[in-house]
Amino acid sequence: MTVKVGINGYGTIGKRAAWAVSKQDDMEIVGVTKTRPSYEAKQAVAEGFPLYGACLEDVGEFDKAGYKCAGTLDDLLKKVDIVIDTTPGGIGAQYKAKYEVAGVKAIFQGGEEHGIAGISFNALANYHESWGARFVRVVSCNTTGLVRTLFPIDKEFGVERVIASLIRRGADPSDRRGSPLNSIEPSLKLPTHHGPDVQTIMPWLPIQTMAVVTPTTLMHVHCIAVDLKRKVTEEEVMNVWKKAPRVRLVSGKDGIKGTGQVMELARDMGRARGDMMEIVVWRDGTKVMDNHLYYYQAVHQESDVVPEIVDCVRAMCKMEQDPAISIAKTDKAIGLAK
Ligand code: NAD
Repeated sequence: MTVKVGINGYGTIGKRAAWAVSKQDDMEIVGVTKTRPSYEAKQAVAEGFPLYGACLEDVGEFDKAGYKCAGTLDDLLKKVDIVIDTTPGGIGAQYKAKYEVAGVKAIFQGGEEHGIAGISFNALANYHESWGARFVRVVSCNTTGLVRTLFPIDKEFGVERVIASLIRRGADPSDRRGSPLNSIEPSLKLPTHHGPDVQTIMPWLPIQTMAVVTPTTLMHVHCIAVDLKRKVTEEEVMNVWKKAPRVRLVSGKDGIKGTGQVMELARDMGRARGDMMEIVVWRDGTKVMDNHLYYYQAVHQESDVVPEIVDCVRAMCKMEQDPAISIAKTDKAIGLAK
């Protein structure tokens, strides 16, 4: 029997989550919500996902535009075991009571506060915390990126301290609003919230973060300095990341000089939507001096959380006890397997 999944908010993350869930053999998409007719609503229908309006007025709009609408979010909630809430940041909190009344489990996204669920999720680092949970939050793209590379390093060598500077993309490619066109804006409230967000998953990790927003849409880049508990070699560090799921090593010597080439690689690999779901670390941008590790990584903000959302469904619905098996299953189904 497959677990029945609904998506509330078929936007940047929602459409990717729907696609990834639909590729798994142990879960299925029962429906997705949109607030108004749009090319994304059309695409949802084309992909075979039953379309629901977020509320009754939306259903009216879809009817007028000639869409076959299967009902409202309330109708969808009657048919699912779990809803993936991918509404814009802050809106998910407004839906929590509805999910509670409907008796469905819900996964929120990084735009919500940790407190919305009290559990924040990363498949490799804390899968079991979400075992059978009613509400869980999958952390943001940046936090996912930091945890993916830092957790295995901490496990292997022990981390004394992390300082990370985040060069953030100003907006997603399809956004019509976003960062200034010709300005770099530092986050003036320091340290930024990203460190505490990592600590919702790795509470023991001493990490501080700074961030600037830049006029680019492709990816975030993180510049990370780590003090380790012992001396290591670059080879030892590479061996850890080679084994870590959802981490891809690239090289400037191969012509991958920046985020433009990383995204071109994803397209060349034939990835769905041209997505790079792994965290990309530059081999030749990694340096070890005694117990100090420095590295750069790139984060595709639109897609890195997607495989995590799938694993989160498995943990919450008690479908697979072993995180490694869930990760491998998810990744194989969406073409990420190492
Ligand atoms: P988005 O704006 O691309 O998509 C949101 C979707 O929700 C849209 O389809 C919109 O029509 C719909 N929506 C808006 N108001 C709604 C309402 N009241 N009820 C139901 N649906 C509604 O947003 P996104 O980028 O996909 O972000 C969704 C969540 O994922 C946020 O919490 C965000 O912080 C988080 N997130 C975003 C990114 C990213 O870079 N885009 C990365 C990681 C996590």
